[in-house]
Amino acid sequence: RFIVLEGGEGAGKTGAIAFLAAELTARGHRVVPTREPGGTPEGKALRALLLSENGLDWAPDAELLLMNADRVQHLERVVRPALQAGAIVISDRYAGSTIAYQGAGRGLGVERVIDLHREIQHDFWPDLTIVLDIPPEVGLARSRARLAGGGIDEGRFEGLDLDFHRRVRQSFLAQAAHMGRHAAVIDATLPPDAVQAAALAAVLRVLG
Ligand code: C5P
Ligand code: MG
Repeated sequence: RFIVLEGGEGAGKTGAIAFLAAELTARGHRVVPTREPGGTPEGKALRALLLSENGLDWAPDAELLLMNADRVQHLERVVRPALQAGAIVISDRYAGSTIAYQGAGRGLGVERVIDLHREIQHDFWPDLTIVLDIPPEVGLARSRARLAGGGIDEGRFEGLDLDFHRRVRQSFLAQAAHMGRHAAVIDATLPPDAVQAAALAAVLRVLG
């Protein structure tokens, strides 16, 4: 099964994935936790190119194609082989982030990003997308607090423009509504253990 966590900054995706991986492993599943961008050595190189601190200024379409290059490599080298070997793949972000950030946030157009996904990834979608929903004000304050507390900045690809992050959030919610039973939306302002318990319940439903 292919499970994806989506959500804005500071939504708690990383902690939720660590929790899910531990719980599912304890239940006897083989779990492959991974991420986009950067789930392969080649993807890590692309991720470094995309960071805003590196001074590069990508044209929006170039950014869209780099995200897709990362995804092609990730699907071919990590996700598909792991699924074929019977593992549960849990990815921190996938195509939904490209729809939200590049399509809705940067305004490249959601339809265009989806068309590109159909063309390049042959319309390959997760069995379950878990959206950790958080108002951008709350999520951005959390990630700032994490940095102030000595956390590592893994890099930000876009600025702190609140309207941008509001478009991203609305896009994740719209995508979840469209995906129906293939999606679960969790209120990420709840305490982490409640968020994680809800995420596990959603995954166990899919595993049936
Ligand atoms: O959550 P993660 O650490 O993977 O995100 C890294 C940065 O990349 C964040 O600033 C996120 O908002 C941004 N991003 C993006 N477009 C994507 C995926 C992530 O701008 N398609
Ligand atoms: Mg993260």
